[in-house]
Amino acid sequence: MTLRAVKGMNDILPDEIGRWQALEAVLRRTFELAGYREIRTPVVEPIELFVRSIGEATEIVEKQMFVLKREDESLALRPEGTAGVARAYVASTLYAREPVSRLYYLGPMFRAERPQRGRYRQFWQAGVEIYGDPGPGCDAELIDLLVRMLSELGVQNLRVLVNSLGGAETRARYRDALGAFLRPKAAELSEHARRRLDDNPLRILDSKNPQDQAAVAGAPSILELLTPEDRAHFEGVTQALTALGTPFEVSPGLVRGLDYYTRTLFEIQTSGAEIGSQNALLGGGRYDAMVKELGGPDVPAIGFALGLERVLLALPQTEPAANARCFVAPLGERARVEALVIARELRGAGIPAEADTRGGSLKSLLRRADGLGARLCLVLGDDEIGRGIVMLKDLAARAQIEVPRAELVARARELLASAPPAGGPAA
Ligand code: AMP
Repeated sequence: MTLRAVKGMNDILPDEIGRWQALEAVLRRTFELAGYREIRTPVVEPIELFVRSIGEATEIVEKQMFVLKREDESLALRPEGTAGVARAYVASTLYAREPVSRLYYLGPMFRAERPQRGRYRQFWQAGVEIYGDPGPGCDAELIDLLVRMLSELGVQNLRVLVNSLGGAETRARYRDALGAFLRPKAAELSEHARRRLDDNPLRILDSKNPQDQAAVAGAPSILELLTPEDRAHFEGVTQALTALGTPFEVSPGLVRGLDYYTRTLFEIQTSGAEIGSQNALLGGGRYDAMVKELGGPDVPAIGFALGLERVLLALPQTEPAANARCFVAPLGERARVEALVIARELRGAGIPAEADTRGGSLKSLLRRADGLGARLCLVLGDDEIGRGIVMLKDLAARAQIEVPRAELVARARELLASAPPAGGPAA
């Protein structure tokens, strides 16, 4: 029986990896240009970390964690990156070394959700976390950076939603107001939402159930209940976004699935058809209480996470770049070792090259070069070695030239730098 990958977890095969690597390179470059430094934390954390940070009454903690029991420990595969980074920030006392920390991460996350297009059980996230800056300018700068990055990547039809959940006082007021609005409608709610009425009514706003969506229509807006400080902060964010020329919509119904958010909350979606129903590319917000909750000092924080699969779905499919590889094809015993030397020389000069080590006819070697997508095939047998040359076949141009052995690397480099002829076979 053929073994398959775990449901909702995907292999990323070599043919697809180019797009991934290109996206990862843009993400790293964007973050690093803006002063973020990479942090890598374990994929497994004590379950307690996620319960305390994400919140007990959330879908993620209640239903979606992959839990590992080992001796007397309860561990979980990380469902998101923020909690682990905050734990590392506190444990390493990074706060004592710098007033503001800008960190980024990139890696796989795990949630036992029902798999569908754009929603997987192992998925890749890139995100940043900023510790130590409470001001609205910090929030606006982050949102602006992300909008520009997605536009430059070529994602079309972006929608930027922003909201404020306020601090503890606003949240308590809003819980009461929402509870008072929804309790008389309890009978109209789904069973799941009814259970949330007491422990976490904000989650009901996020319900995908049409019954719940109908019941929350007309619910009070959290923005009307913000304390003066929370209101001033939110106005600071929207004013800075306007000044930066970043398009955004204020969306009072935006709550998102994690309990740790305070004040600013945002999500960037695309309405492009190719991505389907899972249209949120990234989400983030402030979580000013988490560092203290995890045993650190009272340090404010903000962050976001982007789903790499979703961004790749939203990006136009590009033609693979012309392949600048060389394949070295030895004919006969004498040429075998020389082929290895040539491949090593090419690689030493930064040119991707591999030599055949299996042997075979010229025809089969050319077929292999073609299969690898090589642009150049370098052929050498006893005759070529005797004459001090190598036969250089440009597979894209369907042309061949004899090149003196000593000039091989330079000539290969020239040919690879030249554009393959239009209409020729894919190089
Ligand atoms: P969250 O961590 O829930 O705030 O999600 C942030 C981003 O991660 C989303 O906007 C998605 O792009 C991505 N994401 C979250 N869950 C999944 C999933 N199950 N599969 C694929 N991407 C996901």
